[in-house]
Amino acid sequence: MKADLYLENQQLRLQLKELVSRARKNEQKFQRLNAFELRLIGCTSLHELIQRIVHEYRSYGGADFATLAIVDPLYEAQRTLRDNGIDPKDEPNVIFYSNDDFLNRLFNISVAPKLGLFRANQHAELFPNVAREPQSIALLPLIRHGELIGSLNLGSVRIEHFTRNPSTEFLERLAAIVAMCVENSTNLERIKSVGLTDALTGVKNRRFFDQRLQEEISRAVRHGGALTCLILDLDHFKKINDTHGHPAGDRVLIQAADIMRSQLRGTDVLARYGGEEFAALLIQTDLKRGLEIAERIRAAIAQHAFGFSETEALPVTVSIGAADLEHQPEELSQSCIRLLANADQALYSAKNAGRNRVCPYTGSPARAM
Ligand code: GH3
Ligand code: MG
Ligand code: MG
Repeated sequence: MKADLYLENQQLRLQLKELVSRARKNEQKFQRLNAFELRLIGCTSLHELIQRIVHEYRSYGGADFATLAIVDPLYEAQRTLRDNGIDPKDEPNVIFYSNDDFLNRLFNISVAPKLGLFRANQHAELFPNVAREPQSIALLPLIRHGELIGSLNLGSVRIEHFTRNPSTEFLERLAAIVAMCVENSTNLERIKSVGLTDALTGVKNRRFFDQRLQEEISRAVRHGGALTCLILDLDHFKKINDTHGHPAGDRVLIQAADIMRSQLRGTDVLARYGGEEFAALLIQTDLKRGLEIAERIRAAIAQHAFGFSETEALPVTVSIGAADLEHQPEELSQSCIRLLANADQALYSAKNAGRNRVCPYTGSPARAM
């Protein structure tokens, strides 16, 4: 009898010890996750949020890989990254989907995290850049206002990591916070973007251009890369307004901006710099290549049918000045002024040489191409 009691006491003590140890582990896990969540809530841009989720989760949550899938039907998230000078392709741990078909199939209308074994045929596209295939995974649906906006995908090289202890409370909470942060940062970027976009043409405005000009010059200086600036001014635009009316002039501006955008890469910067004047920054592009791109834009605008009536159709053409960054030891603000002034001088040469042409900056005087 005494021995039985002693044994029972020992067992209870062991159980208690294990419970206390589990509670302590959970408490530590909770604190780590809490710290991570605060880091996410503190993000001020989508890029920062992505960086923290993809690169920092490992040290807080213990999984080996974290990737983020974002449903981005209007390419807003991708545009936001580009506006910040980041090519979405350089973020292989973020997967953009133009619709929610794949994720809907994956979660099959369930809002609960999916934990289990990694299956390459089903899950490989969610872990496109991992050094080693994960063995077990947790896929967390990100849901806002009843809509699937993405998924947070965690992977571990240990098979038991997401299979042995299927408790999902922590993960559900994390998914709710990440979903909220993705939505918040997208909204924040949307608000920022309104103040930096030209309302008529939808391209960026002068404020945005001047900001990016500084950033891109300092980046090019740091890495010794090339950077070309174009200034594009529609020819005799006043005559177009006078002949066809101001609303028709507006339509020409919209179409011309579309053509310019279509000839540039997503990472280049295009802005409406003034009335009928645009400016473009061609990233990692030397003057020779910049002139080719400018010539493509010029030709595309000259060939485009702008939709005036045949009888009174006026040609719409553009003159373009191009200059590249000269790496000189000087203040950043000086480099900005000089690059713009050089491109402007080249534009002046193009106008003087008869318009509808591209001119490079050649020191002075500039010569027509
Ligand atoms: P140039 O070939 O020398 O550039 O001649 P231009 O007629 O294009 O240049 P100018 O600077 O004389 O005239 C620009 C015109 O652009 C005058 C202005 O009314 C018109 N403009 C500026 N902003 C807008 C706009 O938002 N909509 C329309 N329709 N016209 C605009
Ligand atoms: Mg003009
Ligand atoms: Mg002008």
